Amino acid sequence: MNTSTSSLPTPPSTPGATSSLPRIAVLATGGTIAGAAPDAANTSGYQAGVVGVDQLLAAVPALSTVARIAPEQIASVDSKDMALPLWTTLAQRINTLLATDDVDGVVVTHGTDTLEETAYLLHLTVKSDKPVVLTAAMRPASALSADGPLNLLNAVTVAAHAAARGQGVLVAFNNRIHCARDVVKTSTYAVDAFQSPEIGALGWVQDGRVEFQRGVVRAHTLASGFAIDTVWPHVEIVASYAGVSRIAVDALVAAGVRGIVVAGTGNGSIHQALQQALAEAVSRGIAVVRSSRVGSGHVMRNGAAADDALGFVSAGTLNPYKARVLLMLALAAGHAAPAALQRVFDTY
Ligand code: ASP
Repeated sequence: MNTSTSSLPTPPSTPGATSSLPRIAVLATGGTIAGAAPDAANTSGYQAGVVGVDQLLAAVPALSTVARIAPEQIASVDSKDMALPLWTTLAQRINTLLATDDVDGVVVTHGTDTLEETAYLLHLTVKSDKPVVLTAAMRPASALSADGPLNLLNAVTVAAHAAARGQGVLVAFNNRIHCARDVVKTSTYAVDAFQSPEIGALGWVQDGRVEFQRGVVRAHTLASGFAIDTVWPHVEIVASYAGVSRIAVDALVAAGVRGIVVAGTGNGSIHQALQQALAEAVSRGIAVVRSSRVGSGHVMRNGAAADDALGFVSAGTLNPYKARVLLMLALAAGHAAPAALQRVFDTY
């Protein structure tokens, strides 16, 4: 196991100083940050989610100079297998903890694969202005130059910082602080694996310093009209590409989905075969949201498709995976008509 320490501030020498440090709950869910490989040079052939939260914390002694940590093992999953009931459990646990006076902030350790989805879900369903910060790692805990320990220290540093309050759910990764709504995984292997395309990070964290360089504009947390539920509307994603058929859409309609997000080409444009099937889905009461597979930029309403005429909704700057999160929450909250759903997508 990696037991590297960081060259961080020396522990407070004033008697009693430690008891005034912020209280941060660290909720572990698994991922590569808790991964172990057969040898230290192996950074891809590892098992995710096998190192417990106590071991993760023990690898970073400097944490005790930043916060009083309350660890919890919520799950031990590879986040590629993230499931909706676990989302419910995680969001409910965070809301319970933050409602008490005993917790000043929460850090969630998570796999990188679906981190952007979990972060956005929490951004919309956490009912507190206390900091919630997700972090992860690209290299397992057993690796040479594991990135998890420093990411964890930085995440706790951000969660313990007064400036993080009211910023919604944050992602601290590789020294940058990202907004949950904007952040996406952009590399399959690089340590600098997360970006906020076009818009950039919110700020940075380094050597105990935290700086925000811009604010969060869209509604989140206390201003969000959404609540975590145990019933998740069935929403799936389909992609548009050369030669695509309508088979997937027809199968989803037959399966009884409530919504379909399209990972369209370019400005959310959709192959005519798929578009016809999706227009028929709308006429059966299924919500259809146009997003883009491009990876940055926005989808213009009535741009590449006649949304008004076809009953489609534009996802704006949300990628298909985040658009699916918002569509599930919106449908669960009773928004069904295209105009109402478009308002939701324009707000969050
Ligand atoms: N498959 C891993 C996960 O998402 C990848 C990672 O954490 O980097 O749990």
